[in-house]
Amino acid sequence: MHQTIPPERFFGYLKWTEIDSMPHRENVVIIQPLGALEQHGPHLPLIVDSAIGLGVLGKALSLLEKQVEAYALPCLYYGKSNEHAGFAGTISLTSQTFYNILLEVADSLYQAGFRKLIFFNSHGGQPQIVETAARDIRHKYRDFWVFPHFLWRAPSNIKELLSSEELEYGLHAGDGETSVMLSLLPEQVKMSLASREYPPQLTQNNLLSIEGDLPFAWLTRDISQTGVIGDPTTASKEKGDLLLQSLAKSWAQIIQEVYEFPKAH
Ligand SMILES: [Zn+2]
Repeated sequence: MHQTIPPERFFGYLKWTEIDSMPHRENVVIIQPLGALEQHGPHLPLIVDSAIGLGVLGKALSLLEKQVEAYALPCLYYGKSNEHAGFAGTISLTSQTFYNILLEVADSLYQAGFRKLIFFNSHGGQPQIVETAARDIRHKYRDFWVFPHFLWRAPSNIKELLSSEELEYGLHAGDGETSVMLSLLPEQVKMSLASREYPPQLTQNNLLSIEGDLPFAWLTRDISQTGVIGDPTTASKEKGDLLLQSLAKSWAQIIQEVYEFPKAH
């Protein structure tokens, strides 16, 4: 049941009595993986975001020094994915339900004595909700540290591995995600069906953009026929291995920093 998570780091394997007698629970880092079940074009399966999240987190936890106390909760496989509505198989929670789940998980952890929680999100459609929920949890519990983190924002070698066009427009099911999936779950990737689809030029000026500083609220249907936003045809397992290693190394460091946080005293 622990999948990629090292069993000794899997929250679901703990007994309640072990948690009840755990010393320094206020320092123990609890990590909630947040995925999604949504279309990823004709060549990738629905599970991509959850699979990549668990792949990176599992590797990161296996790199972590033993004395750093950290546990991963079971992944939340559903997310807020309404931008992919109209593509069969996408399962989406509403923003309200997703937000409520985050707050209620935090309530339960707080009542168990934990005081550090990382929301380890791997779906690009929901960082804003995760950030709002984290701030609201912090407001409710003044001795609870919450870290609303998005997997792809961690430092990595991605700029060396992907083209500049892909770094700007490869938002979904492109080179990065496809390469990591070729590394993690190659038998579920159909490279013969991979095709490149970049979004159309939307305006004559350069100020409005899809994901830049001045974006608009788009649905995938507005900008893609296949569900792909990017170029998966250049993906490779070698790139995926390198990206995965680099992300896992950063995440091990991030988890350690959360464990030591706040450093001041
Ligand atoms: Zn994705």
